[in-house]
Amino acid sequence: MSSDLVAQPFSAPQVYIVDDEPDILQMLRDVVELSGLVAHCFFQADDFIKEIQGFDGNNILILDLQMPKVDGIEVIRHLAAMENPPELILISGQDSSVLSGAENLAVAHALTVRGTLEKPLSIGSLRSLLETQTAAATTKFKGDIKPAVRDFSAEEIREALDLNQFVLHYQPKEEFALSGAAKYSAECLVRWQHPIQGLIYPDRFIPLIQRQGWMADLTSIVFNQAIMQQRQWQKDDLHINLSINVSASDITSLTLPESISRLLTENELDTTKITLEVTESELMGELTTSLDVLTRLRLKGVRLSIDDFGTGYSSLLQLFRMPFSELKIDQSFVSKMVVDMEALAIVKACIMLGEQFQMRVVAEGVEDQATKALLEDLGCQAVQGYVIAKPMAADFFGEWLTLALTTSNTLVRPPLPNT
Ligand code: C2E
Ligand code: MG
Ligand code: MG
Repeated sequence: MSSDLVAQPFSAPQVYIVDDEPDILQMLRDVVELSGLVAHCFFQADDFIKEIQGFDGNNILILDLQMPKVDGIEVIRHLAAMENPPELILISGQDSSVLSGAENLAVAHALTVRGTLEKPLSIGSLRSLLETQTAAATTKFKGDIKPAVRDFSAEEIREALDLNQFVLHYQPKEEFALSGAAKYSAECLVRWQHPIQGLIYPDRFIPLIQRQGWMADLTSIVFNQAIMQQRQWQKDDLHINLSINVSASDITSLTLPESISRLLTENELDTTKITLEVTESELMGELTTSLDVLTRLRLKGVRLSIDDFGTGYSSLLQLFRMPFSELKIDQSFVSKMVVDMEALAIVKACIMLGEQFQMRVVAEGVEDQATKALLEDLGCQAVQGYVIAKPMAADFFGEWLTLALTTSNTLVRPPLPNT
């Protein structure tokens, strides 16, 4: 019989302490023992890691984050791989952002964090964290419910913008028919290279940046990086059109066309090397201003693409009066078009609309060969998705593209790096 839903009698947890400072370790041991619990002390994290294999799930770990050899973050990584990880009390002598970053990381790994403490330590706070039973009691019944990932604060995002912690990854779009067009172009996708948590994807920071009104700062970082990278590739004889995502606030900024053409001229690149992607749902907000900006961009030679097409409920008439050259069918339809008749009908309609309005049609989110082949049959011009390659850091992408251009696209497929 499963015991999952039966309350278990409470047995006292074993407490492990990892801290490289002898005085603090002694003090922590005293507080733990004062609370009537058994303490196991370690000066070095790697000694502790050797010990953790046999853990049975009723343990607490008081972990100092800053240690000379193996630090607290590496310990968290080890705990994440355990079947019965201890609950955590994180301590640090550094500022509170380090503690909150480590807490976020632990939560993202589905670990239970009882609390965080800054040095100098408050004995009262530590005792109450040790004596609380709630965490131990609740995790027993949680099943597969993972703790929610904490949202970032506006201050954290502002700091990331000021320190320029954003990097671009590049995902290829592959052309079916080569009527003079290059076989590959690429979309620039922004990621936050968080100093503690690693790579963070746009859905976790773009909405907040938008709410704070800081989109222009991110867009400027993205443009600068994309254009520098394109210049470098051009020097390496890799000529590729790059698509950059812009948001509604960008396309209502009347100075956007001029700043883009200035940046391109400064880097000796021409405007035809850039495509701007605007999601359909963002297009209709301030129609007149965006029409002004988009038209001037087209006049300067920049290509425009409607992203996530099919999800925005916009008026087709208004939409097709705008000067777009490309339409990207949203991946929610593409991913199931082989098995779902409705999705297939929408994809066909998008391809037909593209033909009627002389727009290039790209399908995004193409994950398998069957979908790719069907799209080619239906007359779609290009595909983007994991079947070609996942988004890659600049160096990987450069190598990928070189290889892809020199090998036969049917006989040898370039490797698909995982990012
Ligand atoms: P998007 O522009 O529609 O980008 C396509 C998204 O689909 C990317 O997610 C990409 O990694 C993902 N994707 C590509 N191929 C496949 C596939 O075969 N299967 C699946 N399941 N997914 C695939 P990502 O990078 O997380 O970006 C999400 C969205 O964030 C983007 O959607 C775009 O709207 C926005 N974004 C990304 N970079 C920027 C940026 O620099 N500026 C702005 N304003 N928005 C950006
Ligand atoms: Mg896009
Ligand atoms: Mg899209």
